[in-house]
Amino acid sequence: MPHLDERLETILADVTRRNAGEPEFHQAVREVLESLGRVVAKRPEYADEALIERICEPERQIIFRVPWIDDDNKVQINRAFRVQFNSALGPYKGGIRFHPSVNVGIIKFLGFEQTFKNALTGMPIGGAKGGSDFDPKGRSDREIMRFCQSFMTELWRHIGEYTDVPAGDIGVGGREIGYMFGHYKRLTNRYEAGVLTGKGLSYGGSRARKEATGYGNTYFIEAMLATRGQSYDGKRVVVSGSGNVAVYTMEKVQELGGIIVGCSDSNGYVFDENGIDLDLVKEIKEVRRERISEYARAKGTGAHYVCGGSIWDLPCDVAMPSATQNELTGRDARTLVKNGVVAVGEGANMPTTPEAIRIFQEAGILFAPGKAANAGGVATSALEMQQNASRDSWTFEQTEERLAAIMRNIHDTCAETAEEYGAPGDYVLGANIAGFVRVADAMRSLGVI
Ligand code: GLU
Repeated sequence: MPHLDERLETILADVTRRNAGEPEFHQAVREVLESLGRVVAKRPEYADEALIERICEPERQIIFRVPWIDDDNKVQINRAFRVQFNSALGPYKGGIRFHPSVNVGIIKFLGFEQTFKNALTGMPIGGAKGGSDFDPKGRSDREIMRFCQSFMTELWRHIGEYTDVPAGDIGVGGREIGYMFGHYKRLTNRYEAGVLTGKGLSYGGSRARKEATGYGNTYFIEAMLATRGQSYDGKRVVVSGSGNVAVYTMEKVQELGGIIVGCSDSNGYVFDENGIDLDLVKEIKEVRRERISEYARAKGTGAHYVCGGSIWDLPCDVAMPSATQNELTGRDARTLVKNGVVAVGEGANMPTTPEAIRIFQEAGILFAPGKAANAGGVATSALEMQQNASRDSWTFEQTEERLAAIMRNIHDTCAETAEEYGAPGDYVLGANIAGFVRVADAMRSLGVI
């Protein structure tokens, strides 16, 4: 493992001890601290007044019970969280995840990442994350609604357009945001459009928000490829997942001339010799809400489904992990390198294990960390907040143009920061340092907070 200087090692040991049994959080903190050695060496004032220790400690953590009644009239209980990590740059901002794997450590790692990601967007938003161990799989519309309403019955008192602005994440899309917004409106008797983002267009949502995370990752990789005189044109691209991020990644990649070889869900993956038919994926995932195995059945010739296994066994030029944390392992990275991958961009949060990142970087592969590459989603959420604040609504083109400019800017900021700190081409270092410096500068001006 890369070396941490003694002071940062002590901070990491402390974080590990104070947050026992939360390996994903330790992993996220370690990755950032590994980049900060160069900052502290050059600008020791950034380590003063326990600034780094404070950044690693969430400002507030809320844990609550969510009771609800299922379609069989049985009472169900879930546990839910909102970790309000850092508000130095603006109101807390970050998604809500519904997935059985959710626990406080997962939400803490996501909130920590979100803080730096949001800083990188250059928009005035702090960092947070929330969620529940509720499993939406197989639940009826009515069950989802009752769960969302019960969840909001507690959450509403902790959020607000100037306090904390949640959005979607895994398991939370337009339908869930609608139910939550409807219930928030009833509980507060306020039409406070800016309290949630990812809303539907009919009640204050932004055009291009749904597409933004996937489009943004595609733009980021396009900018990285351009530094080597390359483009998407004719490149074979593998996108893991088949949720919102994956679907709109595939859409933009295809528009830019890339060929989508395969996509997946938690059960297995599909590949299609003729390139993935995106309309069919959308129909299966967004309308029928079925598993991806359906794709091969419906498509027939040329399409295959592999149950289990690793999607990263598919040979490709560009890999875009867009499913979940730690889905791309050291073994997968070795396979991808052997198969000639040239660029990897994280659509999901922390999908690449530390070992896999090392393998890519040592092989000279362009690697874009999620906190930079997938920041387009939250950046467009901030654009949604802007539209809500001015009671305006922009065209798709206007919004997408802003998104594209933001992504170019994040790319250039990461590249320039990596260069400035003596590691040209290291986007992990560039993203961590640039995000940290923005949050740290604000915190230093605000006193001991
Ligand atoms: N969950 C998304 C993310 O990880 C979006 C958050 C938001 O829009 O607030 O960035």
